[in-house]
Amino acid sequence: MFELKKTQGRARRGAFTTPHGTAQTPVFMNVGTQGAIKGALDAGDLEGLECQIELSNTYHLHVRPGDELVRDMGGLHRFMNWHGPILTDSGGFQVFSLAKRKDIREEGVTFHSHVDGRHIFMGPEESMTIQANLGSDIAMAFDECVENPSTHEYVEQSVQRTQRWLERCIAKRQELAEQGRMVNPGQVLFAINQGGVYPDLRIWHAKTISAMEGGFAGVAIGGLAVGESTQTMYDVIDAVEPYLPKDKPRYLMGVGTPSNIIEAVARGVDFFDCVMPARNARHGKLYTWQGTINIKNEKYKLDERPIEEGCGCPACRSHSRAYLRHLFKAEEMLAMRLAVTHNLWFYNHLMTAIRNAIDTDSFDDFRTEYSGKLTQRL
Ligand SMILES: [Zn+2]
Repeated sequence: MFELKKTQGRARRGAFTTPHGTAQTPVFMNVGTQGAIKGALDAGDLEGLECQIELSNTYHLHVRPGDELVRDMGGLHRFMNWHGPILTDSGGFQVFSLAKRKDIREEGVTFHSHVDGRHIFMGPEESMTIQANLGSDIAMAFDECVENPSTHEYVEQSVQRTQRWLERCIAKRQELAEQGRMVNPGQVLFAINQGGVYPDLRIWHAKTISAMEGGFAGVAIGGLAVGESTQTMYDVIDAVEPYLPKDKPRYLMGVGTPSNIIEAVARGVDFFDCVMPARNARHGKLYTWQGTINIKNEKYKLDERPIEEGCGCPACRSHSRAYLRHLFKAEEMLAMRLAVTHNLWFYNHLMTAIRNAIDTDSFDDFRTEYSGKLTQRL
């Protein structure tokens, strides 16, 4: 299901096949938290932006409209009319970051919904059942994402529990498959490596996952970009990467800037997701190959050029910076829609450029040229 086609240094060029199509890697997944891209984009828009994998949130869809409703509507693909691959996260991250008053035990986590305060219990079995109902192509294991910093003692007992939860996820998926309760019988599971910022715990967990007989099709590195420095994040990836299975994709969860992505690709990562391009777009911060611009700036008032000359996105093909700046000033919804369109196009095409660079053995040059430049402010 994962084909590793080529490497340059530790950078990897591959392809990952799902029941809803093949994604070329390295890949950036476009985040549609509640089954929609924030900024009023739908599945048809995503196709036009050359999105390869859509990512939705287990926790959000469980709380609203309810995963059983999505199942009754034929699964998430039919519900949102997106026919490409979908990855659903496990809900773990949202439970630990959004939910109020949580109580973590061996069985799982009891917490209060951020929408209506309703009492919810989620453990590995509940997360697998919800993701089976959603019918995503890639389900994520239920894990505990610890805050950085946390003590070594706490992270050690947490990562051991996350490993026991992974084993329960695999057992529950087998049960759901035998009972014919998978909306998408071809759904696979990704394990999640945890261990905070402690290399010994990260490596212990990576080795433990790698030694498992099966039951998972990829490994994520979770619990990063949650308060530690960028260098610490790179150091953790450097430490753990040699112990991850070579024949399965690696997914760095929730990361990051274009520079973070280039640096993580250089360290052997294949999958990415981040709310940053859409969130920044909604605030007028736009990505270009020269760096980022703030479209609300006075200097774009009479600028007839598109956001980026040569950009093939629907916003740049039709509109000027001056018009987009006006839309932001007038607080028109179209401002957000056009800005998100451009930024997601940029991220998806950044990945195309990274893949082309690996294909042509020029990734080192690409990294040197763009890693610093893409995050500078113009
Ligand atoms: Zn554009």
